[in-house]
Amino acid sequence: MTMAGMCGAWAVVVWRRYNKTWGKAKVRCNLKSRKDIPPHEVAGFNVRAAMDNMAREQVIALLVIVQYLLSLLWVIFMDDVGALLADVVPGMAFELFFGAVFLPPFLTVAISWWARRFLRDSPWLFFTHRLNLCLLIFGAALTAIFVDAPFVFETVILLSSLLIVITPFFSKGLYLSSLLLFFVGSSWTGGWQGFSWFDIGDVVLTTLVGLIMVRFRFSDRVGNYLTTRTIEEQHRQLRETNRELVDANHQLQSITHLDGLTGVSNRRAFDETLEREWRRAMRAGTPLGMLMMDIDLFKPYNDTYGHQAGDVCLKTVAGALGAGTRRAGEMVARYGGEEFAVIVPGGNADALAVMAESLRRTVATLGIHHPTLAWGYVSLSIGGALMVPQFGENLETLISRADGSLYAAKEAGRNRVVLRKSVSEKG
Ligand code: GH3
Ligand code: MG
Ligand code: MG
Repeated sequence: MTMAGMCGAWAVVVWRRYNKTWGKAKVRCNLKSRKDIPPHEVAGFNVRAAMDNMAREQVIALLVIVQYLLSLLWVIFMDDVGALLADVVPGMAFELFFGAVFLPPFLTVAISWWARRFLRDSPWLFFTHRLNLCLLIFGAALTAIFVDAPFVFETVILLSSLLIVITPFFSKGLYLSSLLLFFVGSSWTGGWQGFSWFDIGDVVLTTLVGLIMVRFRFSDRVGNYLTTRTIEEQHRQLRETNRELVDANHQLQSITHLDGLTGVSNRRAFDETLEREWRRAMRAGTPLGMLMMDIDLFKPYNDTYGHQAGDVCLKTVAGALGAGTRRAGEMVARYGGEEFAVIVPGGNADALAVMAESLRRTVATLGIHHPTLAWGYVSLSIGGALMVPQFGENLETLISRADGSLYAAKEAGRNRVVLRKSVSEKG
């Protein structure tokens, strides 16, 4: 009774608050559109709501059980429980009474526990939840019928409308049919005659207040859920766009640093890397090696086989050079035309000479036919230089020394390696 009074006061407060804002079309539209969203059209809402509801149904069912136990405490002190029950529930068997009173909340706890554990991702979760809710509400109505007391029924209606997210449509059917069951059942057991008009008004008012609360809570929940979903979706799109941008950036980076024809690094990348390695070597006081390579008599090759065949030859040679320079820090680049260059940080003159000779041989063993060269296959002339960069020195020095070595190799008859050791080289 007191509870229904409090709820009535609460309903009035809520009604006044919303009545003030209902004049504004925006608020009305907002509420209306949220309320009218059929939950099955909001993907994922039912399952999420059902999972939350299951936990709350357990709480309600346990509260109901505690309420029964407390109200039955005094029975322990009675001499004749059977006589008492016969008095409270005329004509009803002892077992039936306890079955009707205790079974629904116990079943609710069991079903919700089971469903939360095993139906997590199943479409049955939602149906199980509704079944559970029916059990809880109709169980409370049955109890109220058998003990001639509407307070159990009222409590469960109010608790469920406060805690559980139910669609307004479903709650209307559920609450009103359980109310009907309560009145019909009460008149059948004869409890009806004991009710005052106040009792009847209390139950009806509680049910109506429950329905109002369900409606507000539902529209609120759907709105919250949709907002969260929208934010999540925006986040996802943002992350995706970001990833695409990063990928595109990587791609752009590699395109601007690769030679279009041969696929090895281009001159720009070469210049940047050489500059960086030069400064690093200067700081660390370590040697920096460089090889300059030029395909021998490539013009006659082009003249004989055509530029397309020349391009294929360039690609093949570049591929072989790329495969031959795989150690960390080493870089092969197309320096221009049929010239390639390799940067070799660290090491010494002997190692650089070995590497240069290995690269020359790699290209020679490709065995690309070349009619003009005396040895009959495409070959490289390689000039190398190695320096420990000193302050005040310019990296152009390294390049021109390597270039000078290459010129010497050409002069000496091509298809060979010439290495010029720097005077400032250590060791
Ligand atoms: P050397 O042994 O003295 O280096 O003789 P060479 O004929 O290789 O020297 P030269 O510098 O006179 O000729 C370079 C030729 O390389 C000229 C040009 O036709 C060719 N070349 C340069 N870039 C390309 C290219 O991208 N594709 C093709 N097919 N040929 C190219
Ligand atoms: Mg050349
Ligand atoms: Mg050449």
